[in-house]
Amino acid sequence: MVLLTLFLAVAGKIYNKHKSSVDAEDISDVIEELNSEMVVWTDDLSYIHMNKMLRDQVGSDKLDNRQQLMTVFGLNSDNPEMLEKVIRNQSYEVHFQNVSGGLTSIAWSTSLMKKRKKNSLYLSAGFNLTEIKKMKVNLASANDFFNSSMELAEIGVLMTTDKKKYFASPEMVRMLGLRSSNVSLGDFRSLVHPNDRMIFDGAMNSEESPEVKSIEIRIKSRGGSYRWYSYRYKFIEGTDNTLPLFGGAILDITKEHEKDVLIERLAYMDEVTEIPNRNKLMDIGQATYECCHLLNYSYWIIVLDIDRFHIINDTCGYTNGNYILKNFGHILYKFVTAGGLAARISGDNFALVMRDYGEDELPVRTVMKIQDDFAKLATGEFSTISLSCSAGFSKMPADGNSFLDVLEHAEFALKSGSDNQSSICGYESRMHDSIIGITELEKALSDAIENDELRLFYQPKIDLATGKIMGVEALVRWIKPDGTVIKPDSFVPVAESSHLIGKISEFVLHEGCRQNKMWQKMGLPNIVMSINFSSSDFYQKDLKDKVFEALAISGLDAKWLEVELTERLALKDVDYAVAQMNRLRELGVKLAMDDFGTGYSSLSYLQILPITLLKLDRSFIVDIETDDIARVIVSSVIDIAKSKKIETIAEGIENEKQEGILLGAGCDYGQGYYYGKPMPPEELEQFIINNMNS
Ligand code: C2E
Ligand code: CA
Ligand code: CA
Repeated sequence: MVLLTLFLAVAGKIYNKHKSSVDAEDISDVIEELNSEMVVWTDDLSYIHMNKMLRDQVGSDKLDNRQQLMTVFGLNSDNPEMLEKVIRNQSYEVHFQNVSGGLTSIAWSTSLMKKRKKNSLYLSAGFNLTEIKKMKVNLASANDFFNSSMELAEIGVLMTTDKKKYFASPEMVRMLGLRSSNVSLGDFRSLVHPNDRMIFDGAMNSEESPEVKSIEIRIKSRGGSYRWYSYRYKFIEGTDNTLPLFGGAILDITKEHEKDVLIERLAYMDEVTEIPNRNKLMDIGQATYECCHLLNYSYWIIVLDIDRFHIINDTCGYTNGNYILKNFGHILYKFVTAGGLAARISGDNFALVMRDYGEDELPVRTVMKIQDDFAKLATGEFSTISLSCSAGFSKMPADGNSFLDVLEHAEFALKSGSDNQSSICGYESRMHDSIIGITELEKALSDAIENDELRLFYQPKIDLATGKIMGVEALVRWIKPDGTVIKPDSFVPVAESSHLIGKISEFVLHEGCRQNKMWQKMGLPNIVMSINFSSSDFYQKDLKDKVFEALAISGLDAKWLEVELTERLALKDVDYAVAQMNRLRELGVKLAMDDFGTGYSSLSYLQILPITLLKLDRSFIVDIETDDIARVIVSSVIDIAKSKKIETIAEGIENEKQEGILLGAGCDYGQGYYYGKPMPPEELEQFIINNMNS
């Protein structure tokens, strides 16, 4: 480019001076003052003219000196054949010693000006490279200086122009013990710790942004062990003269990391299980979620819950409870794969994050293996309890707009799973429909309570020895304006998960007391009114006051009121339950243990819970005619209860045979369709009258 401009300048001047022809002198004249090294010469060396610029370099005024020309052309003899080289080469770079003893570098470009018979006339225009050469040397030493600074600071540089081949700086080569400064992305990636590869991939595929970003990853280093590095990188856009650059600096942060690990342990580790806690799960989870979008990956989030853990904790004690949590955490940890994570979310809730490789059965298969391993823990002092867990799972990024969203959906799936132990349930968006159903139901139920649509049905309880009615159980019904009767199983669980159960229980308590007092006033024989309490009712601080109030308003003597509590409810917090039961007993109210035998029944509870009646669950009674074991259990429970002065009642008696067996086993009372289904108060009145007369 520069040379072409020069030629045009020379040609222009010559053309202006001699419109027709040119000769050596003319050219010499024109180039004399030009600001570039130039020489006019004939190939027989009979004419040589160096311009002033060039003469300043060679330090001589002898215009015809052949030797001088050879020097500036870098030729060591004055053999004219050597000049061919100068003529032939478009650009011919030469270094020669100049007048001040330094080195001059010139790139010559030679053109034929005139072909003549005896000789040809040439013009050589020089481009002085001396300064550029010096700059290059400077640059090289700057580069050396830069590299040694990097070495002192232990900073490696990893750059690429095409994201395939990477250039590693000398310090980087040293730090990682690389074989060469040219590494492929694949080779470099293979040095990254498997657990950190996803983060690395995320960085390598990140948007081409000029902002500085950074990641912290483990890389296999010189000596073969992994060390922690911080990689700060950015994207530099290309220009007309440069290619786009991507890359940055790598700094060994192993020491800092070791310190951080301690701090992190405190902030991100769960003390009991020694696995990451919820904070860590949220951090890593969100980062993973973002990587999923970037790299088209997907991950499973499995949320696990130890079945009936509160009971285990109560039964086996706090230390053993912790032992089980810790081991559960360790079991989960075994299933962590590259890029995944196991964490304790809270209490007995855990999460497992696993990469999805397109196998839809993976979560269920994994949970089943975890369940197997967990069940095996029930040995030695835990051999009497069965250890199981339930799980819900979802997939990210498909199942939510953030990691929290996806996690909540997995938790939602867990709750949506069956009430049975060892349930496994995957998230489906249509699950929300049932939630909408529930909220609608809640609204309708709330209206029903306001509109006085709740009623009590009463089921008789019979003294097996005499056949006489000794009490009734009040069972709530929702009677819609069109007369449809809705059974409690369809709405009590919904009411329990909202504040509505409190209103229902208040109604049942007051209505039960009022009705019983009313029958007494009618002159019917005195019977016990049993009402059912839910967990949230039972754990209310002012329960005693509320019961007292209902008794006072109705005028019913406390001994004609009985509260049925389930074992599950009582075992939630045994100490509190005992205290609460004692408070009710102080009023004179009777206490029955409902559904006995379904949960983690332990006869030892009969020692500590101040109950007056034990209600054998219907599941024992159903099989009692055919199942010898059920019969044995029922009669032993009755015997033990008797020894504790606790009365017994069997629920779900449907035929005479069952009644006979229970009577034979010493059971005090019976309840079931055999005697009467739950019925409205008028029907019950008739029942009592008939019963009195039978
Ligand atoms: P539960 O307390 O175990 O009540 C006994 C249930 O067994 C009643 O169902 C009753 O109708 C049914 N049952 C009685 N005898 C027989 C029989 O011989 N065969 C069969 N197959 N079933 C029999 P119901 O009334 O549908 O109540 C279901 C559950 O709803 C109750 O179980 C109780 O847990 C709950 N519940 C009912 N009323 C209330 C209430 O007022 N408050 C609360 N918190 N829960 C209630
Ligand atoms: Ca009951
Ligand atoms: Ca029951």
